[in-house]
Amino acid sequence: MTAADHVDFNQFMEGVKRRNPGQPEFVQAIHEVAQDIFDFIQDKTEYHEYQILRRIAEPDRVVSFRVCWEDDNNNIRVQRGWRVQNNNSIGPYKGGIRFHPSVTESVLKFLAFEQTFKNSLTGLPLGGGKGGANFNPKGKSDHEVMRFCQSFMTELYRHVGADVDVPAGDIGVGAREIAYMFGQYKRITNQFTGVLTGKGLEYGGSLVRTEATGYGAVYFLQDMLRRAGQDIEGKTAVISGSGNVATHAAEKITQLGGRVLTLSDSRGFVHDPDGFTQEKIDWVKEHKTRRRGRIAAYAEMFPNATYHEGQRPWGVPCHMAAPCATQNELSGNEARVLVANGCQAVTEGANMPTDLDGVEVFKQAKILFAPGKAANAGGVAMSGLEMSQNSARISWSEDDLQARLRDLMRGIHDRCLQYGVTDGDPAGGEYCDYVKGANIAGFKKVADAMLAYGVV
Ligand code: NDP
Repeated sequence: MTAADHVDFNQFMEGVKRRNPGQPEFVQAIHEVAQDIFDFIQDKTEYHEYQILRRIAEPDRVVSFRVCWEDDNNNIRVQRGWRVQNNNSIGPYKGGIRFHPSVTESVLKFLAFEQTFKNSLTGLPLGGGKGGANFNPKGKSDHEVMRFCQSFMTELYRHVGADVDVPAGDIGVGAREIAYMFGQYKRITNQFTGVLTGKGLEYGGSLVRTEATGYGAVYFLQDMLRRAGQDIEGKTAVISGSGNVATHAAEKITQLGGRVLTLSDSRGFVHDPDGFTQEKIDWVKEHKTRRRGRIAAYAEMFPNATYHEGQRPWGVPCHMAAPCATQNELSGNEARVLVANGCQAVTEGANMPTDLDGVEVFKQAKILFAPGKAANAGGVAMSGLEMSQNSARISWSEDDLQARLRDLMRGIHDRCLQYGVTDGDPAGGEYCDYVKGANIAGFKKVADAMLAYGVV
């Protein structure tokens, strides 16, 4: 193992592709991070000698398991579940659980990899993991969802624990699913511990956790704009998604004086030129979360709005964009349209929503671009605070937690600046490459802990 064994970026990526056949999302996530890390570690021999990047890009373990459950018509159904434990160098594995038909091992490996850097960026002692199943909660009765969650936890409980691995929600996993899984964990182990976050307030949940990801993404946007001498007030925003992250991002932008023009779901988007008021956002929350409806109904409810079936919202002219639905939902061509229409800032509420081409377009145009691993870290940061409250058996007040969330996001923004500032911003001032800043700041803390442990 010598520094002379260095491989270059292309050789490294060839190795990643060879070792992970048929896993495009995982390869894409590593590609995006490794580009920046290669520059950073160029003259840092110890990172090469100890093969740190190669080791971070290989999950500690991937657990895959069968999940059997019975539907309301007494049919036996079989799904596949996973937990990917990527890296626990700086704290217990931590990351959400996703229930969606599109879930694969590749998607969960990419999410666990990203989560490792994101959790490091929060400044809290949290490792990275992710889990889920190819189960679609849509159209299922509460009892079916309960039976699935219980079956899922009947295997998962062996691999998690308050000091081992602490899952949370993600797409398709909200308060209802967390409660079913927590109840089953408690029943099997006879322990009441903070093994999941995003719990209900009655049984160990934290105030502000629900809002944290969406609000946090907007705080990051606010910090980027402020640094550029601008503000959210008076600006228009285009948002994708209509779930937890999207609705809370819309809420915070509206509170700060911005005008949100769109929301979407997997079937299409709605455009409301009047803007989404708090009342309208509350209607969306109720309609999508409680009644599990489609966003198309918004255009029937609010007649000035239009529904665009099968389309994404990026063609609507705006000052700011917030992709808050899912991965690879904003392509290079859509990024070009946003830039051409005058979009000045993008904050990623979702994980890896902009594809590699799109990220390059934003970087070349030098607009303000906040990658998900920095911008949407408010949710996991608040989950970290839920873990602290559970351990200490206390509950902090809403005001206290709101203030902590604001500070945490400012801290993440500052950590990105530390490694992301380069010169040459055509608009004057120093341009910050937030992608690079987030990648390097997130990497360094984990890498230094790994160096300290030696080869383990
Ligand atoms: P929700 O399940 O609450 O909402 C997801 C939204 O995205 C829905 O509007 C859904 O539409 C839409 N969507 C899902 N899949 C697709 C798709 N393939 N194409 C287009 N739209 C799609 O999830 P969250 O709001 O919690 O999560 C959204 C994103 O934010 C994810 O990338 C998640 O990983 C990320 N994130 C979430 C955090 C959290 O705290 N919740 C923390 C950090 C990141 P439909 O109703 O039609 O399915």
